[in-house]
Amino acid sequence: MKSILDDNLADCKCCPRRCGVNRLKGEAGFCGIGFKSLVAHTGLHFGEEPPISGVNGSGTIFFAGCNLKCVFCQNFQISQEFSTIKTAAMSTDELADEMLTLQKKGAHNINFVSPSHVIFQMAEAVIKAKKQGLTIPVVYNSNGYDSVDALREIRGIVDIYMPDLKYMDNELGLKFSMVDDYADIVPGVLSEMSAQTGFLKINKTGIAQKGLLVRHLVLPGFLENSKKCLSLIADLSKDTFVSLMSQYSPQYKAAEYNGINRVLTKQEYEEITEFALDLGLENVFVQDISSRDNFLPDFDRADPFRI
Ligand code: SF4
Repeated sequence: MKSILDDNLADCKCCPRRCGVNRLKGEAGFCGIGFKSLVAHTGLHFGEEPPISGVNGSGTIFFAGCNLKCVFCQNFQISQEFSTIKTAAMSTDELADEMLTLQKKGAHNINFVSPSHVIFQMAEAVIKAKKQGLTIPVVYNSNGYDSVDALREIRGIVDIYMPDLKYMDNELGLKFSMVDDYADIVPGVLSEMSAQTGFLKINKTGIAQKGLLVRHLVLPGFLENSKKCLSLIADLSKDTFVSLMSQYSPQYKAAEYNGINRVLTKQEYEEITEFALDLGLENVFVQDISSRDNFLPDFDRADPFRI
């Protein structure tokens, strides 16, 4: 019997890059990942938004590789330079085992970080884990450059969509992330995610169970982009939950790029939070701008998030 992987990896169109490579044979396209997913880190993570991390932590599974190449990526060690660090190639059975282990440790959810290029490996693994007793919500924590067709195909697998809406400006996408159609693709992605899961639903203990939470990292010097992103979210619905992230700092190659070669100022962040409120967005998580160093991981360490 053909599996979801047979159907989708022989001529890969898992993400909007549509490379067409045969990943069943181990070929890799733009994302650099062949048949098996590469996992860079698993563990309880306490740095997500309160309804995701809760008190017990979010059960994160960080995938290596990425379908974007952001010059400012704080996870560049695993997204773009993963050949230089320790990763584990995992079958979908092994991924299912990881999920069950995280559930046993008390995780509030399973949080797949950067799943866009391994969406079907993730989906098959979730189906297997659910058959073995996985009950906690599944979070899809992506960069927003997803295939709407692929999302439709995995409908019912993901409980919480948490895309990072990066750009509503294709020139910025090209300059900073090597993608020329991000702003054309992402509106359809958000609509599909919203249609599948609705608004974020949080239980009595403050933990998210289902729905859409859109993140946006405010880039210094590009506030018009942030305003366009927030307007898109407000157009979707003013009830959409939004996480406005102030944690930007010039990581990886960002020092070479004018504009993003510095941290975000307090004034810039305040302008964007006020804009969000003026748009009528009701459910906005904000960050303490002084906490930015707390979010920088080092994947060379056993615990990348230890401060
Ligand atoms: S998932 Fe990877 S190989 Fe497939 S289309 Fe996207 S970038 Fe290309």
